[in-house]
Order: sequence, then C-alpha cells, then structure tokens
Amino acid sequence: MWDVIKRKRRTRHPEPERTRPQEPEAVEQATDIVCDRCRRTLRGADDGWNVVMDSGYAVGYLCPDCQTAEENAEAEVHQATLDYNAGQVDEHGRVRWPKRGACNSISVGGHAAMRANKAIHMMVSADPPVLRVAVGPQSDARLSELFGHETCKKAVQDEMSSKGAQPGTRDLAYLVDSDMDATDVWVVEDQEMAVGGTSTHKLLVIYSPDIDPHILEVFAPEYADSMREAIHAP
Ligand SMILES: [Zn+2]
Repeated sequence: MWDVIKRKRRTRHPEPERTRPQEPEAVEQATDIVCDRCRRTLRGADDGWNVVMDSGYAVGYLCPDCQTAEENAEAEVHQATLDYNAGQVDEHGRVRWPKRGACNSISVGGHAAMRANKAIHMMVSADPPVLRVAVGPQSDARLSELFGHETCKKAVQDEMSSKGAQPGTRDLAYLVDSDMDATDVWVVEDQEMAVGGTSTHKLLVIYSPDIDPHILEVFAPEYADSMREAIHAP
C-alpha cells in the first residue's frame, strides 16, 4: 500500500527538490514580527510597535498595547533614529537596522569628471540610503581611511586597488566652499584649486558650509571633526 502511494506521489511531483522554490517559509519565519508579551503577529503597518534591541540587533518586539509608558517613549526614539526600510537579516536570523540617514549601503565606481580631470582624487555623494564614492587610478589610496565604517573603507580600498591607485604622501587640508552641494565632498589636489595662488602641495577636502550632518557621519571621527572645525573657523 505505501509503495503505491509513494509511487503516485513521485508521479505527481517529480523531483520536488528541484522544482520547489528555495524555502520561502524559512525566510518569512525569520522576519515574522511577533509581540513578546501577547504573541500577536504584526500585520500591515508597524505604527507604535517597538523593537527590543540588544547590541544593535532586534531581539524582540512589543505591540502598542503591551508597552509601558517608558517603552512607548523608547519606541518613538527608535522610530526617529532607525531606518526600518533598510533592515538586514544576518545568518542567525537576527535583524539589524542601521541608523537613519547614515551610509546604509555603498556604491563605488568611477566618474566622468574624474576621468577628465586627474587632479580629482575622490568624489563622495550621499544619495540616502546609498553613499556613492567615485575613485580613479590617480586617487591617493590612503583616502579609504577617511571612512568611519569598515564596510565603506573596505569597498573603497578594493575599488582603488582594482584601478591601480597607489598610496600617496600628502597631507589633507580642508576647504569650505559655498558653491558645493550639501551632500557632496570632493578631494582634489590643491594646485588645481589654487586658493590665493599659493599651492601647499596638499590634498584639499572640499565641501559645503551647510554640509548634511548625515554625510559627516560616514567619515571617521577625526576627519569629521576637522571638517566641522574648518566650517566654524573665523
Ligand atoms: Zn502585545
């Protein structure tokens, strides 16, 4: 009897492993949002739900009905600071949300302006949630150190080495220029910009006095501090 059933199943579903799409249930289960206290499942909008965070990871959820006043306040802080559209599930099924506005993903490549003008070493542009970085073979390979986030640093480093960029020896100077877009930062050889006709043989980091605070966040703290200082210098 079992043989007959088995044979029938085989005939009806030949090679089920190959025709079935890859375990969609498992993915859904990993990202299903259930209230820790009442076990209610989140359906539709996540208004008022709070994420219980531990070391940047979501370890649980609380529906609006189950939250204390304190947890409710925390939910509002999370809503304002975390980017719920950019959540990523790691290999353990844990969800992590990046901070809103910061570099959530990075796109590295070249740029026509850099191909035409070899004095331009790097062009950084925030296009939330993507940070766009253009480099070329002329780029000073040490400039990958500008980025605060390891992923960004590594991506820029890899792109530079694939283009044959070499580490240089020049220091950085900061130039605040009101003609720049608030979301752009360029690194250019100073003889090309020749402020007041004097060349100091440095690389100039050029940006707007109204630079978007989110783009400052992608730079390593020491560089972001120098950029802020240059804006506020008399
Ligand atoms: Zn609940």
